[in-house]
Amino acid sequence: MRHLLILLLGIFTFMSQPAFSSPVIILLGPPGSGKGTQAVRISQKLAIPHISTGDIFRYNIKNATPLGLKVKEYLDAGKLVPDSVTLEMLFDRLNKDDCKNGYLLDGVPRTVAQAEAIQEYLKAHPHKLLVCNLVVSDAEILKRITGRRSCTACNKIYHIESAPPMQKETCDICKGPLTQRTDDTPAVVEERLKAYYSQTKPVEDFYKKVSQVHDVDGAQSSDQVFNSLLKILSPSA
Ligand SMILES: [Zn+2]
Repeated sequence: MRHLLILLLGIFTFMSQPAFSSPVIILLGPPGSGKGTQAVRISQKLAIPHISTGDIFRYNIKNATPLGLKVKEYLDAGKLVPDSVTLEMLFDRLNKDDCKNGYLLDGVPRTVAQAEAIQEYLKAHPHKLLVCNLVVSDAEILKRITGRRSCTACNKIYHIESAPPMQKETCDICKGPLTQRTDDTPAVVEERLKAYYSQTKPVEDFYKKVSQVHDVDGAQSSDQVFNSLLKILSPSA
């Protein structure tokens, strides 16, 4: 009986801290790992906002917020936006009401310095940190990105192996000619992978120290990756 009471009290204490169950999901993975696509699906499924730095930049610039104006100055001058400004914008976004029940970070943190700053921020904001890492080999990424073709007329995306058009180099929908983006060449992809390994891979090591990093086989089909992620992020879903 006493044990039961203690157990009930424990459950009650746990349940009365809903903030701790707010998931903060961090998706890691190299360019071409399908991270962006999965981020959209996961945030829809779990009904939490999908936060990407690109979106935050665009929002602030479009609405000419004080931070947006600062960013525009850097961009207009052809300079990189410093970490401090990016983080200020990120935390400004995370402080909004819709992030109270959790959120998913996509493409951020990109550096260990950003990861440390986010970890500091999280100390003051109760949450449940869930870090997933999409694992895809360099060879697979090269194949994925360099095989990509898009329609010059309607922008539909094809892949010469996994999603080829019915007629070679021609869009199924509008019959427009297909083209390869200039940054989808092996040389550019290898350059991006190199940047990823030197800058962002250490972020993975950082999270291995402060939390658990769940590796997910990103070479599976998009649906399989999605289901693997869901099992980790929301076992009851
Ligand atoms: Zn087309």
